[in-house]
Amino acid sequence: QSLTDDVDSGAATMPLPQSDERRWSDTSAYARKKILQSWIQLPNGNWELGKILSTSGEESVISLPEGKVIKVISETLVPANPDILDGVDDLMQLSYLNEPSVLYNLNYRYNQDMIYTKAGPVLVAVNPFKEVPLYGNRYIEAYRKKSNESPHVYAIADTAIREMIRDEVNQSIIIRCICIHESMTYSISSSSGESGAGKTETAKIAMQYLAALGGGSGIEYEILKTNPILEAFGNAKTLRNDNSSRFGKLIEIHFSESGKISGAQIQTFLLEKSRVVQCAEGERSYHIFYQLCAGASPALREKLNLTSAHEYKYLGQSNCYSINGVDDAERFHTVKEALDIVHVSKEDQESVFAMLAAVLWLGNVSFTVIDNENHVEPVADESFLFHSLGSWCWKQECLLHNMCLSTVAKLIGCNINELTLTLSKRNMRVRNDTIVQKLTLPQAIDARDALAKSIYSCLFDWLVEQINKSLAVGKRRTGRSISILDIYGFESFDKNSFEQFCINYANERLQQHFNRHLFKLEQEEYIQDGIDWTRVDFEDNQNCLSLFEKKPLGLLSLLDEESTFPNGTDLTLANKLKQHLQSNSCFRGDKGKLFTVVHYAGEVTYETTGFLEKNRDLLHSDSIQLLSSCSCLLPQAFASSMLIQSEKPVVGPLYKAGGADSQRLSVATKFKSQLFQLMQRLGNTTPHFIRCIKPNNIQSPGVYEQGLVLQQLRCCGVLEVLCKGPYKRFFIIAILHQFNILPEMYQVGYTKLFFRTGQIGVLEDTRNRTL
Ligand code: ADP
Ligand code: MG
Repeated sequence: QSLTDDVDSGAATMPLPQSDERRWSDTSAYARKKILQSWIQLPNGNWELGKILSTSGEESVISLPEGKVIKVISETLVPANPDILDGVDDLMQLSYLNEPSVLYNLNYRYNQDMIYTKAGPVLVAVNPFKEVPLYGNRYIEAYRKKSNESPHVYAIADTAIREMIRDEVNQSIIIRCICIHESMTYSISSSSGESGAGKTETAKIAMQYLAALGGGSGIEYEILKTNPILEAFGNAKTLRNDNSSRFGKLIEIHFSESGKISGAQIQTFLLEKSRVVQCAEGERSYHIFYQLCAGASPALREKLNLTSAHEYKYLGQSNCYSINGVDDAERFHTVKEALDIVHVSKEDQESVFAMLAAVLWLGNVSFTVIDNENHVEPVADESFLFHSLGSWCWKQECLLHNMCLSTVAKLIGCNINELTLTLSKRNMRVRNDTIVQKLTLPQAIDARDALAKSIYSCLFDWLVEQINKSLAVGKRRTGRSISILDIYGFESFDKNSFEQFCINYANERLQQHFNRHLFKLEQEEYIQDGIDWTRVDFEDNQNCLSLFEKKPLGLLSLLDEESTFPNGTDLTLANKLKQHLQSNSCFRGDKGKLFTVVHYAGEVTYETTGFLEKNRDLLHSDSIQLLSSCSCLLPQAFASSMLIQSEKPVVGPLYKAGGADSQRLSVATKFKSQLFQLMQRLGNTTPHFIRCIKPNNIQSPGVYEQGLVLQQLRCCGVLEVLCKGPYKRFFIIAILHQFNILPEMYQVGYTKLFFRTGQIGVLEDTRNRTL
């Protein structure tokens, strides 16, 4: 009995942030177990290491590093590991696995640029925010030869390759993070959160290793070149990350039987379209816009009527045009080269740039009131001025104010009158009649912005498609694959909208995948040791997933249903959710448009404002018609993106509401089916997990904020992994404690116990005495 007590009161009860259980309730325990050091929690929540001078009754006397001596209640002490365990490679090797010990160990390593640490089966990566000397050929070679065994992304990638070949099973490397909003530091700025934890960099490092080991055919260069392209079109500067990915990405790299890369396939998830037409102060739109404006040749500028980024309203609204240390013009050339390498023809490249310019010019279209009912029309081009004053300077002037419409029409290859009509009127089908409705200013701005967003997202999809064509494996698809998933982490902000709703739903799915995998590992271990695993509890988030997915009364179904009602509003949606889901333990209806979901990582309160519109993501029939009539690259891109929509199994309702008759799946439904496909794909792989941790919110090297790190560790399940997995280990430790073996005298490996010289003798003596 006392054995079990010891285990419970010690390291085995992670993570229990505020619970007394993890502390040493038995005060004599310290003396008995010869624990010399302990963690003391300071009023600011941070932990400090102290030396135990004495324990008597309920109080202990502790000396702190600065020489201060304090008296504390023994119960509040948390045992610290002996110095010999400082900076161990794997947190599992710690004798006392508690939060301060984990935090300390990560910090200890971080200070020495050892940013990677194992947490059992998971690799933890703490963002260094500076160049660390851990990469490149020398390191790749060392990991390939296994002459370096310290934790690393390379080691994970290496294991993935080896297991793929050995077991003939596809592999996946799943890179995630947690993004918690620190409300004090920043006002909420972007609609969708971003982290800067290092996922994308980590994914690139893994790709680098795979390319080095599986290279040879040349296709590995193409694969690596997809990064600058997708980053130019899908990444942007946000307040927290100068190169924030605004989409999720899965890249599946195929290998031939001989272990050489034979091709790859990229899938993207939920691009943040809204950034094209609006972004917050201090942030930027997608990099490619600034790169184009800065780097286009004079000939291309002339062709696209391109001017400087400062002259475009879509780019000007956030007051931020450049990024420290980044040369946009130079990047533009890198992107063009990368496009060459993935076989996008010069002609197509020019069309891509024309689409970008069209989006920018569309943003400069302004409107004027035409009647006393506040209906508007785009301000017409004043081309006569252009003709009469031919100088470059005047031409620019005219362009800015008066040539937007014709420039857009020219760039996308449509009729200028049709463009004007699309931006000022809407055809509504009422029964069998078509009536024409004039637009008010907000409606016209919406129509313009929707058009711009649509052009951009079609362009993005088209690019991914081109890349995939270039990387296609072809018919001889005999080998295996390694997939790398770089996807947004769980998000919780002051205000959470549709984007967080989708992202957190995805993370709920991924977390289940993670939980189930770890449970399987645990099961295997129990079975091996003859332990009855059916009695071991399994933390599952199925309840929360059901809340999202149940039909017809789940969050997604109800959202889709409300989205089809012409009279549905964000408030009717909120009411409907409350009406049907109140009894679900993972759901709580709050006042007005608010509702709360109890996620695995914590509660998140969502506000339904904008949910219906974002879920419908409607493009009015007039705009669709316009886009499909264009003579540029767009109809191709547009048609294929529409096709992708209709190819998918129809799991959600088709839209015919609100005057638009585009037959499209709702955004949530499309996302859900993408997610199902993803899970199916991952389900057939051996997963390798990497958790990225952001040690500070100021993107600075050397700053390690305990509280921030702890929050991320708690939410992402790393601590649970540490605590749940190794029951066996704790049992061993408990036995060793019982025999008064000091923690510094042994280390617990996965399958073996290692003793310092002389300790075996001590144990043998004890045995002889007790026998
Ligand atoms: P996320 O994809 O999680 O949002 P990123 O991968 O874009 O984060 O990383 C944000 C920034 O942090 C990068 O632009 C880079 O400056 C820095 N960073 C991340 N990982 C590393 C690393 N391993 N070495 C050096 N810098 C890194
Ligand atoms: Mg990223």
